[in-house]
Amino acid sequence: MPVSSPAQVRQEARLLFRRHRGALSIALSVHVLAAAAGLAGPFLLGRMIDGVIEGTTTTRIDVLAAALAGFIIVQALLTRVATKRSLVLGERVFAELRESFIARVLHLPLSTVERAGTGDLVARTTGDIDALSRTVRFAVPEILVAVVTTVLTLTAAAITGPLVAAGAIVGAPLLIAGTRWYLNRARAGYLWERASYATLNGTVTETVDGARTVEALGLAGVRVTRIDDDLRETFAAERRTLFLRSVWFPTAEMAYALPVVATLAWGAWLASAGHATVGQVTAVVLYMVQIVDPVDRLVSWLDELQVGLSSFARVVGIGNVQPDRYPTGAEPDGEDIRADDVRYAYVKGQDVLHGVSLDLAHGERLAMVGPSGAGKSTLGRLLAGIHPPRTGRVDVGGVPLVDLEVDQLRREVVLVTQEHHVFVGTLRDNLALAAPNASDDELRHALAAVDAIELADALPEGLATVVGSGGHPVGPAFAQQIALARIVLADPHTLVLDEATSLLDPRAARHLERSLSAVLHGRTVIAIAHRLHTAHDADRVAVVEDGRIAELGSHDELVAEGGAYAALWESWHGTPAQPADAR
Ligand code: ADP
Repeated sequence: MPVSSPAQVRQEARLLFRRHRGALSIALSVHVLAAAAGLAGPFLLGRMIDGVIEGTTTTRIDVLAAALAGFIIVQALLTRVATKRSLVLGERVFAELRESFIARVLHLPLSTVERAGTGDLVARTTGDIDALSRTVRFAVPEILVAVVTTVLTLTAAAITGPLVAAGAIVGAPLLIAGTRWYLNRARAGYLWERASYATLNGTVTETVDGARTVEALGLAGVRVTRIDDDLRETFAAERRTLFLRSVWFPTAEMAYALPVVATLAWGAWLASAGHATVGQVTAVVLYMVQIVDPVDRLVSWLDELQVGLSSFARVVGIGNVQPDRYPTGAEPDGEDIRADDVRYAYVKGQDVLHGVSLDLAHGERLAMVGPSGAGKSTLGRLLAGIHPPRTGRVDVGGVPLVDLEVDQLRREVVLVTQEHHVFVGTLRDNLALAAPNASDDELRHALAAVDAIELADALPEGLATVVGSGGHPVGPAFAQQIALARIVLADPHTLVLDEATSLLDPRAARHLERSLSAVLHGRTVIAIAHRLHTAHDADRVAVVEDGRIAELGSHDELVAEGGAYAALWESWHGTPAQPADAR
């Protein structure tokens, strides 16, 4: 999945700053006031020392000491207000980012999500969002405050004792050189680190998801090797960024310790030569000590900012995925599904469908049969509007499926597969996904239509029972019925059906078949048939071979033709073609 360019990241960050300009300037102004109050300390101390040396009155010293205490209190109060404001601002900005990220993810074309795999997306929604949250909530405010404090402190030092403060310059070259060296390498390093974690995440998730397969095929060793390889990659990436930090941090530490030493030595000489007062030297050296903290924070948060920026690039990058549908607002005229010379490729240059055309009248039942890998599921996904065809078109009522909004599309055609996820939430929520405005009566009606109302009523709290991972357990048959009830609620006129009952025990399967036929009633059905009696019962049968429709006609016609379907039927049925009702 794409990662945005540095220019785009800057642009997005600028927009974000602009949207919160008001709140940001208030928070910053209070920080400036707090930092300014903090500057009074060294200045007043310097005056006190000079006062003592000159032998001024003790009252004057007392006034200076009282002022010092006052400034410290004012600074503490202002810092509190400023910190609170910038934290609130950080939270608000982060919430906004998270929302826009979720919106972007939810609008990703399904085909992109399938192609990219879940690892990358999961890494972006977890690790990258976490990293970004630290950056937005803490790094950005801290950096702004540290910059303000540093600039103000330097200015104060320059005003208090310009000659003495000149000594501080020795730290600058080291800091600038070290920082440039680091920043030039950090982005690539952290992007590598993040990407390697995404890969590791993907491998582990896939291994856990496919645990049964792994066990059945004795693949544990292979998977462990893969995970080890991925871990090695993350290790190498971590080492790289650690190396960058291990050079940069000490360099920076040295760079901000140098000014303290330099101003002290240089100031001592100036004072002894009579070019500066002891008070001035004290004040400037104290400023240099005071500056260590903000510069230190600046350094460590700059590092965090690098991590955050790479995560930001990955999070924003999601928005670069091109949509695969362009809703025009056109209204389908009728319910006929029509595919015209459709081609499709998962991998560029390798078509898996080679010019498929198909006409389905409303209410027709079509069964697709053919060898595995022939392209049945792919064609099914195209007919359901999940994948847009590479060339050619798939229409409903004369309008291309890709011209319909997803919401509208799902009222026309729905794909029913064996994957029926029960979401964490109440049974009511699970059903209402398909029809947000449905009343409880309508939900119950849908459950009744798929013969599941008794199961639902047997739940401890009926429709309000929390189901899904961690909730009340739901058996596979019931899960499938919930999925079917959603279809009843969504009420599309056409269903693409990847035969779904094969994994259940025969009794549950028969029960489900009844539920299913209730759902299919009155709709156009395109069934990807794994069992030939589905084909036998259909109005027409399409034999898909090598990405083409090799034969198309009713069961009887195809059997009479004596082609591939007739051979299939014969081998399945064991005897030459039988009359249609002999099963
Ligand atoms: P069938 O449903 O008839 O078994 P499919 O439509 O699943 O056939 O597959 C058709 C071809 O497309 C096969 O060669 C398969 O390897 C390929 N294919 C299916 N899904 C993907 C995918 N997500 N990415 C790449 N190739 C795929």
